[in-house]
Amino acid sequence: AVYVSHKTNGVARIHTEILKSHTLREWYQLYPERFVNKTNGITQRRWLGLCNPALASMITELLGSDRWITDLSELAGLRRYADDTAVLDRLIRIKQENKRRLCEHIKRHDGISLNPEFLFDIQVKRLHEYKRQLLNALSIIDIYFGIKEGRIENFTPTAFLFGAKAAPGYYRAKGIIKLIGEIARVVDSDPGVKNLLSVAFVQNYNVSYAELLMPAADVSEQISTAGTEASGTGNMKLALNGAVTLGTYDGANIEIVEQAGEENNYIFGLRVEEIDKLRPSYNPRQLYESNPRIRRVLDTLIDGTFDDGGTGVFQDLYDSLLKGASWHAPDQYFLLADFESYLDAKLRVNRDYRDRYGFARKCLLNIAGCGMFSSDRAIKEYADEIWGISDQ
Ligand SMILES: *Cc1c(COP(=O)(O)O)cnc(C)c1O
Repeated sequence: AVYVSHKTNGVARIHTEILKSHTLREWYQLYPERFVNKTNGITQRRWLGLCNPALASMITELLGSDRWITDLSELAGLRRYADDTAVLDRLIRIKQENKRRLCEHIKRHDGISLNPEFLFDIQVKRLHEYKRQLLNALSIIDIYFGIKEGRIENFTPTAFLFGAKAAPGYYRAKGIIKLIGEIARVVDSDPGVKNLLSVAFVQNYNVSYAELLMPAADVSEQISTAGTEASGTGNMKLALNGAVTLGTYDGANIEIVEQAGEENNYIFGLRVEEIDKLRPSYNPRQLYESNPRIRRVLDTLIDGTFDDGGTGVFQDLYDSLLKGASWHAPDQYFLLADFESYLDAKLRVNRDYRDRYGFARKCLLNIAGCGMFSSDRAIKEYADEIWGISDQ
């Protein structure tokens, strides 16, 4: 493809650099002029104007114009309201109303009752091992035990929402969906945590569903193994709607937090160079044996806590983390290596959320930082620098 193309694009800065330094290293040496970066974007018409009309109106009012609809860089003008408590109050109320709207839909569509007063922590994207929905699921099990043991105190009530489709033949992906369904069942039937934890996996996640989910998120889960997510665009949709990112140094997450401020987001885990350095000697079983929390969480996959309907698919998940197979290493996506740092960050967001103005300020600064993530900007760069069809 590189040979017969005139440009090759990595779709986010880190991924373009990985292509040049590793994946397509020799091709880059042959044809350095062909390699360019055009970071992906999303359309603000769908992912703000259409799906979040209340937020869109507030933004138009605060900016004094609706120019953001065709020039998203206008959003930077929102930064001046970061300490305006009247604006932050309105932002909080809009999020609240969007959560209520989502809860109504989930009740009708999925038959699940959720409390819109909870913190909404959302991971919606295709089901893939590299995206690590399994790490999110394991973290919820650890939080569940932490609350029950009293190790986690003053936990802000949280709804953990998932949405994803798996390819029809992707057996392990379906096992992960089954596990999340089982975690939801166990948590939901435990009166001791009912007021603190909800877990839901919504059915038939698609763009229409995304248009309801994105405006209702407080926390955006973007937890791919560093170096595996070329860009991501769900991360942009959620940030544009005022969610903070709980994520790894991967894909466009890096550029989002660069624009919105690291202090307004929650970045955790190993970076791509650290993963590459660790890979040859990585021993997840050693983490399992030395860390009682990891061991307890993984043991729930095989000790009957959760019911896989006798398929053995939970044993397969357990083995994938601790044994691997002849064709791949155990825990090839480094879930256990990032486990503690992920949980630390997740509990930090949970604590920070209690400062409602402090948290809303982060949300507003994320919205204000989204100016460069418009598909208008991405397409303009393609037109000017790849296709050579600029109208100038
Ligand atoms: C945006 C979007 C995606 C891509 O999400 P990522 O988090 O970037 O993987 C997938 N599915 C739907 C329905 C979307 O709207």
